Amino acid sequence: MQDAIALLSRVFGFSEFRPGQEEIVAAVAGGRNVLAIMPTGGGKSLCFQLPALMREGVTVVISPLIALMRDQVRGLREAGVVAGALTSGNTAEENDAVWAALEEGSLKLLYIAPERLASSGTERMLRRAGVSLIAVDEAHCVSQWGHDFRPDYLRIGELRRALDVPLAAFTATADAETREEIVARLFDGVPPESFLRGFDRPNLALAFDVKQNPRAQILSFAAARKGQSGIVYCGTRAKTETLAAALREAGHSACFYHGGMEAKDRRVVEGRFASEDGLIVVATIAFGMGVDKPDIRWVAHADLPKSIEGYYQEIGRAGRDGAPADTLTLFGPDDIRFRRSQIDEGLAPPERKEADHARLNALLGLAEALGCRRQVLLGYFGETAGPCGNCDLCAHPPEVFDATTPVRKALSAILRTGEWFGAGHLIDVLTGTATEKVRERGHDALPTYGVGTEFDKRGWQAVFRQMAAHDLVRPDPARHGALRMTEAARPILRGEAGITLRRDTIAKAPKSPQVKM
Ligand code: ADP
Ligand code: ZN
Repeated sequence: MQDAIALLSRVFGFSEFRPGQEEIVAAVAGGRNVLAIMPTGGGKSLCFQLPALMREGVTVVISPLIALMRDQVRGLREAGVVAGALTSGNTAEENDAVWAALEEGSLKLLYIAPERLASSGTERMLRRAGVSLIAVDEAHCVSQWGHDFRPDYLRIGELRRALDVPLAAFTATADAETREEIVARLFDGVPPESFLRGFDRPNLALAFDVKQNPRAQILSFAAARKGQSGIVYCGTRAKTETLAAALREAGHSACFYHGGMEAKDRRVVEGRFASEDGLIVVATIAFGMGVDKPDIRWVAHADLPKSIEGYYQEIGRAGRDGAPADTLTLFGPDDIRFRRSQIDEGLAPPERKEADHARLNALLGLAEALGCRRQVLLGYFGETAGPCGNCDLCAHPPEVFDATTPVRKALSAILRTGEWFGAGHLIDVLTGTATEKVRERGHDALPTYGVGTEFDKRGWQAVFRQMAAHDLVRPDPARHGALRMTEAARPILRGEAGITLRRDTIAKAPKSPQVKM
């Protein structure tokens, strides 16, 4: 599926599949009939858009929502894909453009509203157009008992028979009756390949920890799992090498793996990992694509992954056999800074950067979660669940407190110093530390000077880290990383909203602000 990954990043700008997408894309691209049930927001559209690009000919997409179709067509065109829609709202020019693209065979995706299926011309036109796949969005609309019933959806089965091409049906509605009706009406009762797997991997224990002494933390996690196969993901190539050496010194069987190694050396590591018991591979995310070992017992992140999707995919390599597996993710203020600057300094267009920040925010929200991590993780992918009992926060509910007042103090320190300083200086101002820089700038005369009596420096560092995790502040690359307030912080500053933070991770903040491996 190398092909699919390349298209995923080139056309859609995503570096990883969301849970479940890869398997569905493979089945649809392979020309099988598919019924996929994915939670809302799970990323269904990609599961037919990507195969449409992988297949010859035109993919017809039937969707009940005109606004949604238009959005998707616009998005695809912006990504350079030839796509069009035939809906009641079309102008004559739009229709002409779609016909022309069909005639010359350049059209890859044709969205049509279900009403169109009622006109006799549509089927004839589609027969001539070289349709190779039918995708049905919101397939539950075919259910006469559901409240979204669309009579025109009943014609889709007929269209499939007439065109004799594979059909992929998507819905978020998972109840058994609806599924049966979809199979009966869209697939003539012949069960298609079905994807119903939720995102939950209950055998994976989830845990995060604030970086204190990261090397010691990883070593102790590995020591408790000696003799088990595991992966440690690191943010840099250099760190994979030093950490693998440290693990070996501690008596583990460990090797490193990163994209800077010769292909043949990487193959050696992959081969050893697959065949040996109890080997630890310390790697960058270059390690993973080809890893298909069912009994990986643990995955640790020595550095924060870059997005919640990346996190899910990386921890998901553990415990594929269904037996219990452990995960641990370390994070600290340096990680947040590093990941933010990676996004800001990248070459992606502004909207993409904004989306990458949002995906990082989701991960940071998970790192600083106040309750069950699995609920937060599944919630992000659109699934609801009760507390899992298999994460660190279920095992030890965190101590939280109303941090509205200290956060407002911190925000006011940021604003009163003109949004030109980093956390270190702001903490000096808050704690009333008359450094040279503070005196030079006259910041010892500010009303916020010395008001932060509730925490010491370490405590304030943890508050700033949590503020960054809640996306209340962001470093501005144009100002050497000075912290600036985000829109999300305004209601708190104005006293219109409060904020709860964790006290336990404040107590645990490292003594020195610079955390190095
Ligand atoms: P739905 O399943 O509700 O139809 P969409 O297809 O609209 O969901 O996707 C929901 C969101 O997820 C969109 O913003 C989309 O860009 C994003 N998305 C889909 N696939 C990925 C991916 N592999 N990585 C990151 N974001 C993705
Ligand atoms: Zn839990």
